[in-house]
Amino acid sequence: MAKKQFKAESKRLLDLMINSIYTHKEIFLREVVSNASDAIDKLCYLALTDENVGLSRDDFRIRIRVDKDARTVTVSDNGIGMNKAEMESNLGVIARSGSLQFKNDLTEDKKNEAPDLDIIGQFGVGFYSAFMVSDKVTVLSHRYGEETGAKWESSGVDGYTIDDYEKADIGTDVIMHIKPDTEDEHYSEYLDGWRLRELIKKYSDYVRWPIRMDVEHYEQQETGEVDEDGKPKTKYVPVSSEETVNSMIPIWQRSKSDVTDEDCMQFYKDHFHDQEDPLAVIRIDAEGTVSFKAMLFVPGKAPYDLYTRDYQPGLQLYSSGVMIMEKCADLLPDCFRFVRGVVDSPDLSLNISREMLQHDRQLKIIAGNLEKRIKSKLRSMLDDDRDSYAKFWDQFAPLIKYGIVSDYGMHKDLLKDLLVYRCSGKDGLVSLDEYVKDMPEKQEKIYYAAADSVSRAESLPQTEQVTDAGYSILYMTDEADTFVVSVLGQYAEKEFCNISSDDLGLETEEEKAETEKKAEENRELLDFVRETLSGKVEDVKLSHKLRSYPVFLSTEGDITLEAEKYLKSLPGDQFKDVKAKKVLEINGSHKAFQALQKAFAEDRDKAAVLAKILLAQADLIADIPLEDPREYTDLICSLF
Ligand code: ADP
Repeated sequence: MAKKQFKAESKRLLDLMINSIYTHKEIFLREVVSNASDAIDKLCYLALTDENVGLSRDDFRIRIRVDKDARTVTVSDNGIGMNKAEMESNLGVIARSGSLQFKNDLTEDKKNEAPDLDIIGQFGVGFYSAFMVSDKVTVLSHRYGEETGAKWESSGVDGYTIDDYEKADIGTDVIMHIKPDTEDEHYSEYLDGWRLRELIKKYSDYVRWPIRMDVEHYEQQETGEVDEDGKPKTKYVPVSSEETVNSMIPIWQRSKSDVTDEDCMQFYKDHFHDQEDPLAVIRIDAEGTVSFKAMLFVPGKAPYDLYTRDYQPGLQLYSSGVMIMEKCADLLPDCFRFVRGVVDSPDLSLNISREMLQHDRQLKIIAGNLEKRIKSKLRSMLDDDRDSYAKFWDQFAPLIKYGIVSDYGMHKDLLKDLLVYRCSGKDGLVSLDEYVKDMPEKQEKIYYAAADSVSRAESLPQTEQVTDAGYSILYMTDEADTFVVSVLGQYAEKEFCNISSDDLGLETEEEKAETEKKAEENRELLDFVRETLSGKVEDVKLSHKLRSYPVFLSTEGDITLEAEKYLKSLPGDQFKDVKAKKVLEINGSHKAFQALQKAFAEDRDKAAVLAKILLAQADLIADIPLEDPREYTDLICSLF
């Protein structure tokens, strides 16, 4: 069959593997074995519902054989297998989504800088790592449900072949043709059974399926002859017998003290095919009404489809070490659907169906427990490791926020402590709890500014009055933020206050009286401006909230400017007529106002021009595009 070419990225990665000078080449075995284990998981899972599989749990095994003369190491499994199409798509391209990134990180200088690419050790690169120690890899496989088998073979970057192949048993053999020794590298060590056993113990001990190897030992056998004393003569002959090398205790079943955080992280990366370390590991060993063990992970990166309908949330569910469900969504509340991991309980029945699980009381108890544990882990990350929390927030904040507003705010108490924001005068993220604790005694409200970005929020005119009073402002730069706030209403008995639309509560009685007096004095002028701008703004007021800015826009009623922008940005046109009720607030002490007063007294046409310009400026400050930029330019030019 004609040789096929690897996809470009795969070729680069493969090239890197073949020419690797990485010192931990030994990890290739872990990678190949973990693929074998995954393949068995899949068939075993199928066997739960498909009688035709004809294998029971005890029949599954991984077998490693060495042929010293042929210089091959073969890893065989009786798992699900691959057909030709699967070989094409799984072995012809990089399977792990992050591998591409990995390749991109490997610029030439980096290679020189760090020849011992630890990346390989940290992430593992799957099947291709076989090429670190092999000059040819042959994969023979027979997929469950197919008539016949298939053979994939490659000697490296120049491509691979796929052919039909008669293979009686279901499953896969990965045959690695070990490279010849060189001056620097003693590849033959991988043909030594003891060395391979050592590697299994080191990296794959917890694999749940038996990894069987021939172990050679010597036995005394009678030769058939007798010695001078008439006793039968014996000699030592090598015999080999198959033994299980790994202890097979799943990592989540082992006691906490036996398993390091690094072990857990490695397990996560192998088991859930992620190249990134998880941000947090949560280990649970619960005893009580329902006993269970769980190992949960907060991933470092959101999967690419997390925010789509395609994403399938859920934890792997085991009953005493046997997987009974690949993704049990009922174990996780929606807001924590990014969490991955395994839950293992001896109290669950093996043959439980999906429908029964939904109503399972034990499952509900477990889910309740997990929810609490996840929340408290995130909370302690927030308190103790702000950098990790910032990474978490960057990836998963939308789920937490959505969790608060969904289901009529039912989960808000669970989630509100996890909210963090950028804040005026502070670096990094601030939680609501921290904001409230830091409030000066006389401060009564939680002030926030809503805008598209922190720099926009910072430059809102209304911020001046709040910061002048010595209070901080939370910057809410996400469209969901104002909805979250309206669902929460208050936090620690402090009301939220949108500095653009709400009464800031910062004016003294005297200031209010003064503003009222000034408004009264300028009643005619304000009426004139109202009339000039009628249809564009709901009202025109003199304001005390401003310091250096001449004007700003506030709103009346429920729809704020941010809400208007957000609703208009939604697909479809059901919100196209939504309008915030704008109020133009004018700084009575600003020289722009004095100019307006003067024009009103001397030249009404000019006063009308100034009023329109002031409204346009207020729009610009609020980041609202001008309806008619041409008119605005004409207005300005008419003053020259
Ligand atoms: P990963 O295991 O991270 O997906 P690999 O490069 O190690 O990436 O493997 C690529 C894919 O090839 C696997 O996802 C699996 O679909 C398939 N595969 C590899 N080894 C086996 C095997 N022994 N049995 C069945 N499928 C396998």
